[in-house]
Amino acid sequence: MTARQRPVMAHIPTYKAGQRADPGGHKLSSNENPYEPLPSVLEAVAAAAGQMNRYPDPHSTDLVNALAERFDRDPAEVVVGCGSVAICEQVVSAVAGHGDEVIFPWPSFEAYPIITAVAGATAVRIPLDAHHRQDLRAAAAAVTEATRCIFVCTPNNPTGTVATTAEVERLLADVPNDVLVVIDEAYAEFVDDPAAVDGLDLLDRYPNVAVLRTFSKAYGLAGLRVGYAIAGPEMAAALRKTSIPFGVSVIAHDAAIASLAAESELLERVAFLRTERRRVHDTLRAAGWDIPDSQGNFVWLPTGEDTAGIASVLAEAGIVVRAFPGLGIRATVANEEANDALVRILTNL
Ligand SMILES: *Cc1c(COP(=O)(O)O)cnc(C)c1O
Repeated sequence: MTARQRPVMAHIPTYKAGQRADPGGHKLSSNENPYEPLPSVLEAVAAAAGQMNRYPDPHSTDLVNALAERFDRDPAEVVVGCGSVAICEQVVSAVAGHGDEVIFPWPSFEAYPIITAVAGATAVRIPLDAHHRQDLRAAAAAVTEATRCIFVCTPNNPTGTVATTAEVERLLADVPNDVLVVIDEAYAEFVDDPAAVDGLDLLDRYPNVAVLRTFSKAYGLAGLRVGYAIAGPEMAAALRKTSIPFGVSVIAHDAAIASLAAESELLERVAFLRTERRRVHDTLRAAGWDIPDSQGNFVWLPTGEDTAGIASVLAEAGIVVRAFPGLGIRATVANEEANDALVRILTNL
């Protein structure tokens, strides 16, 4: 007999990571940055590797201070973690346990239901509206006495749609101010819609807001695992308690600092990816695809029942995307060659 597990384990799915592409193919399944690391970041990584016999600073003090300076916040409001997915987990374990409810849009980031279930809390999924957007009025209406946390994922992974400032302010006005509203902005740097919410603008007026961001996507450090939260000092202190000690390695920490120092160079790459996103959208729409306006580094193809078929046509051409069975396909916007290959197939189906 194997060791007994918590009953909830029978219902928790294993996180599905994006599949790898064959050599010569294109991996558009994990919203990664297609660029190789900057030389200055690689240098910082090499130097940090020389200290791998030592534990990292458990509080990532230098990075916390650099982020606080970058965003003009108090360091007491900044928490660094092993990717923002770890911070999602720290947030839920700080606020919700057995009998509590966590509200999130669906489909959205696949880690939300897993993290909620592991915490022993109950997931409340709010379906996206007909335009693949989050329905924050429905989220507010779903709040009960048991609600402890609401995730707003903007741009929403996998559909790319944003929540507007007006929508999030209305949500914050509608929900009790002891319910944490987590604004997961993993793709913040890719946003160019002026109506989109910027969670950092809300922090001073709403102490129940936490903003999550990451170095994985725009800054190209997915393989190193470093993200951060900016929240009120009390919530930030709680997130430090629920973290696993030493979660951010010396290498990840120093690479993140070097990335902030090289921010303008990195944001030029982001600007190019935004131009490519526009081009992919325009070309697909001109060919008749009805796709929502994505503000992330990916596009959403609402392929419905044709999802598996289209994903396998793409796979045969060496293009690996993320298929959501029966719903649609999320494809990362990458370099021109990969985007051309994707668009060529999708416009010739
Ligand atoms: C990618 C992603 C994250 C987590 O990224 P990390 O690599 O863990 O920093 C968090 N939220 C959303 C919505 C994402 O798409």
